[in-house]
Amino acid sequence: MRIGAHIGVGQGWPQAADYARDVGCECVQVFTRSPRMWRAAQLDEAAVAEFNDRMSSYDIGPAFAHASYHINLGSVDEELYERSIDGLALELSRARDAGAPFVVTHVGTDPTGDPDGAAERISAACARAIEASQASSDVTLLLENSSGSGRHFAGSMQQLGRLVALVRAHDVGLVGTCVDTCHAHAYGADVRSAEGWRRLLDELEDECGPGSVRLLHGNDGMFPAGSRRDRHAWIGEGEIGREGFAAMLSEERLQGVPIIVEMPGEIPEKDRVNIARLKEMRDGDPDR
Ligand SMILES: [Zn+2]
Ligand SMILES: [Zn+2]
Repeated sequence: MRIGAHIGVGQGWPQAADYARDVGCECVQVFTRSPRMWRAAQLDEAAVAEFNDRMSSYDIGPAFAHASYHINLGSVDEELYERSIDGLALELSRARDAGAPFVVTHVGTDPTGDPDGAAERISAACARAIEASQASSDVTLLLENSSGSGRHFAGSMQQLGRLVALVRAHDVGLVGTCVDTCHAHAYGADVRSAEGWRRLLDELEDECGPGSVRLLHGNDGMFPAGSRRDRHAWIGEGEIGREGFAAMLSEERLQGVPIIVEMPGEIPEKDRVNIARLKEMRDGDPDR
């Protein structure tokens, strides 16, 4: 299970690769564009090529691209819905151009309290974005579970797995899941025990079969389970605790799945410390 962090590319792509190495990343997550703006500046091809050269020389990878926060694939506002599809298509083609084989996205909301309708809207939007991007042979779309706050869809593994099954039915490209530990915990799942992880994965697999989890967001959570409050905490300092992450690291069905930490706090400490904590837990068991 490769361990890394969400890192900034604002100081330059090659510099981001150096930063990743310095803090101990074995894989990374990036925004290929500002996540809080619709507009996106052109990718600097030479800088991206240098980033990828350095990443492979440091043996870091894969790179996951996290999509913009503006994207709401469940919106019933026609204009926002269409913009979100275009935005996700752009994320997929930019990821391909940046050499990132995965795009992680939040799925959006269920604004009218109609889960079946939301699942249809969101899955149709994903399929349209994949088709429009023409990147489906290079990039896998990963749908992330939410904390369930404010009508955010896919707090439950049932909803997340259902979305994957529905997108697959469109047969336009590869799709999988990203399970965020803080979001699952905030929604009310038990991610603190081996039994809890078994149940969570069973629920997901009941909807979309085995092997959908391609990425874990390893974030501790500041608030109690079921609080629906998405506040990340450093590994071992929140309500999930070291025991929860140890259970995750031991789960057989998650072996080989990369882990990315998305932490509050100051760089480089927040990344260096949290990566080191997870590595220490992982490497304590020689079979892992
Ligand atoms: Zn996340
Ligand atoms: Zn979060």
